[in-house]
Amino acid sequence: MLRHLLHTFALGSVALATDANIKALFGPYLSPGSEIATSSDPGFVDVVSPRWTTWETPTFQAAIKPANEADVQKIVEIAGKNNIPFLATLNGHGNNLKYAKFQNGLNINLANFNSVRVDAASNRMIVGGGVTFGDISDPLAAAGKEIQTGNAVCVGLIGATIGGGIGTMQGLHGLVLDALESVRIVTATGLVVASKSENPDLFWAIRGAGANFGVITSATYIVHDETNSGRVTLADFVFPVASNRSIWELLKSYDDHIPAPMALIPSIQYNRTINETYINVGLAYYGSQSEAQPYIDQVNALHPGSTTIQNVTTGELHEIFSEGVCDRGNRHNVYSLGLRTTDSAALEETLSDLIPFFEAHPDYRGNFAIQRYGNAAMLRIPDDETAYPWRDISAYL
Ligand SMILES: Cc1cc2nc3c(=O)[nH]c(=O)nc-3n(C[C@H](O)[C@H](O)[C@H](O)COP(=O)(O)OP(=O)(O)OC[C@H]3O[C@@H](n4cnc5c(N)ncnc54)[C@H](O)[C@@H]3O)c2cc1C
Repeated sequence: MLRHLLHTFALGSVALATDANIKALFGPYLSPGSEIATSSDPGFVDVVSPRWTTWETPTFQAAIKPANEADVQKIVEIAGKNNIPFLATLNGHGNNLKYAKFQNGLNINLANFNSVRVDAASNRMIVGGGVTFGDISDPLAAAGKEIQTGNAVCVGLIGATIGGGIGTMQGLHGLVLDALESVRIVTATGLVVASKSENPDLFWAIRGAGANFGVITSATYIVHDETNSGRVTLADFVFPVASNRSIWELLKSYDDHIPAPMALIPSIQYNRTINETYINVGLAYYGSQSEAQPYIDQVNALHPGSTTIQNVTTGELHEIFSEGVCDRGNRHNVYSLGLRTTDSAALEETLSDLIPFFEAHPDYRGNFAIQRYGNAAMLRIPDDETAYPWRDISAYL
């Protein structure tokens, strides 16, 4: 299996070559629509991939924005022959600490791979390797189709897929990687197709084991007819912190089962205008309000300070969830945990630690959120079918 393994980045600081050498090495082999720049060029910022966070960032001595798949093949081939470390990225949401260890390498910016085609008759969506979750909403809705996605519109579909891909529609359709049917991927040995029938070992690995097997130039996903004509009931509740124990107990009551169309997202936040910690509970239900009402009633029974109910499209839902989250240029860092069960006492203690922390750090704008999505659909896929190892997680903290 690992004959395909491609060391897309070598850790440590590596000087590529002189700027002139970089252009001479790659330039003659790229198609006219592609762009190349070194970090000293004034136009570098338009060629290199953007970065979501200023925290632990990789640095690049040069960047190439390839125009087509043949360009990617050439870049990988030339970089390989010349021992040039490279990292292919889209919007730079990768926030693993190790990204900062990639210094002065070559960036391959996948922004030109932004095509989306939905084939409604075969329930398939064919995308370029550089589309975001936000890019696919309208084409899918126009075809009356849906797919499970992550919640933030700015995140790369492929980047998320190869690590798992979690989101509000998970209860209905599973992880994003469960929708992946095949990819065209440029590996160290060249361009190959990977699917259950072609290079199945490589296909197993890219579904969950992440990013270093090659550069995916396009991918085919299985899509579904829209649930509830593409409309979601979104309820938003705001609670004082005194209610926290009852909220954790409600979350715990969903540890073993949560309805497939439902997502429950409690979060601890701090209102910097009135200097007060509060708890927000988001409840998204892929169905009508009357179908969602029994679950809304359960939360209302805990006496929130306010309740807001909206009927939105899936695209609008993700725009709402992305507010502030997609802003670039901040020092964002993210730490996550998978939970099998809810420990109400531990969460209560966490809240009591967070309140003084929020108050002591007025410049801190973070929050603490738990995402509880249905996992029945993802559990239907056998554990050994993909490299993703955490199908038994019931909530993401
Ligand atoms: C604000 C925010 C919200 C998020 N929300 C969700 C969510 O709701 N659900 C969820 O599952 N995850 C979510 N994530 C996590 C996200 O899925 C990962 O950080 C993912 O790696 C981001 O991919 P990207 O392409 O946007 O970022 P990039 O930094 O551009 O890429 C991340 C990694 O993916 C690789 N990669 C990207 N495209 C390709 C390709 N075409 N071929 C090969 N490798 C590629 C890159 O080499 C890199 O190693 C979120 C992250 C952030 C920062």
